[in-house]
Amino acid sequence: MIDRIVDENETDNDKPDIEIEISLRPKDFDSYIGQERLKDNLKLAIQAAKKRDEPLDHILLHGPPGLGKTTMATVIANEMGSQIRVTSGPAIERAGDLASLLTNLSNGDILFIDEIHRLNRSVEEILYSAMEDFKLDIMLGKGPSAKSLRLDLPRFTIIGATTRTGDLAAPLRDRFGMINRLEFYQLDEIEKIIHRAAKILNVKIDDKAAAELAKRSRLTPRIANRLLKRVRDYADVNGDGMIDLDLSHKALGLLDIDELGLDMSDRRLLRAIIDNYGGGPVGLETLAALTSEERGTIEDFYEPYLMQIGLIERTPRGRKVTAKAYRHLNITKTKTDKQSSLL
Ligand code: ADP
Repeated sequence: MIDRIVDENETDNDKPDIEIEISLRPKDFDSYIGQERLKDNLKLAIQAAKKRDEPLDHILLHGPPGLGKTTMATVIANEMGSQIRVTSGPAIERAGDLASLLTNLSNGDILFIDEIHRLNRSVEEILYSAMEDFKLDIMLGKGPSAKSLRLDLPRFTIIGATTRTGDLAAPLRDRFGMINRLEFYQLDEIEKIIHRAAKILNVKIDDKAAAELAKRSRLTPRIANRLLKRVRDYADVNGDGMIDLDLSHKALGLLDIDELGLDMSDRRLLRAIIDNYGGGPVGLETLAALTSEERGTIEDFYEPYLMQIGLIERTPRGRKVTAKAYRHLNITKTKTDKQSSLL
């Protein structure tokens, strides 16, 4: 697992703060900042389900890590007044694990499955009929004497989260009544998230400093919260606890995160395309080999943000670095560098 301050995933650095993490998590739609379209859709679905006195339809949330999928699942549960159980694709190893999770649910409960694209096939197949008919098909015994048994399940809701809908088997995807993408946040929304977190953490931060942190947060709440905590440490040690623009510059300088939120690894990736392939296009496999990063890491963590801010673009022949990236890295294009369509 990469351990970068701008890593959208939960890292070991986040773990000691588990209670703080929980306190930072918005509990209802009002405190969940941004994602307005998604919230509107969900509010409607929740109102309708309550009116009909039925459980919610199954919901799939997808998008890059750290944008608030898990948080949204707990918000939905709170707004529905439902119990939520949290698990993840890799944690459900065998069909029996899923069976015991499902049979322990009650009517109206929510089962949140993070990284649902990582469920193994045998588990996934059981989930199909469980989601569709609220039945559990289990096989007893093996070989010719094996018997299949059908159990009734309570009416539950699955909320699945994934960074990649493309990796989800079509029959599983089809069983979700709502499929929603979480978008990167607007800068002003990230600023609000920073002010909200500062209040909870009892940190004093002025507007300019919050705007500066927001700029470097990759438009991602998890990173915004993490930067705030690191800058708070710096303020406690080197200042009087108050975070202003000057102090945040100094603290962020130490973390080596530039004004677009890129760290060394992002810049290395961009440079690898420029130095070795004249700016691209370059295939994902080659890029993974060049940077010694996993293909999935590039797809899940680096690319979405770099594309969002227009530093790379995806073409049918591979990834290309844009003119904006050249400018950002202060590199002059040479004749051998290929033209970017975003010049
Ligand atoms: P994901 O499941 O998409 O990886 P999380 O739900 O774990 O992301 O969110 C990461 C952290 O970011 C949460 O602990 C929460 O504190 C914060 N967060 C996420 N979305 C929001 C939001 N809309 N408003 C405020 N804080 C948020």
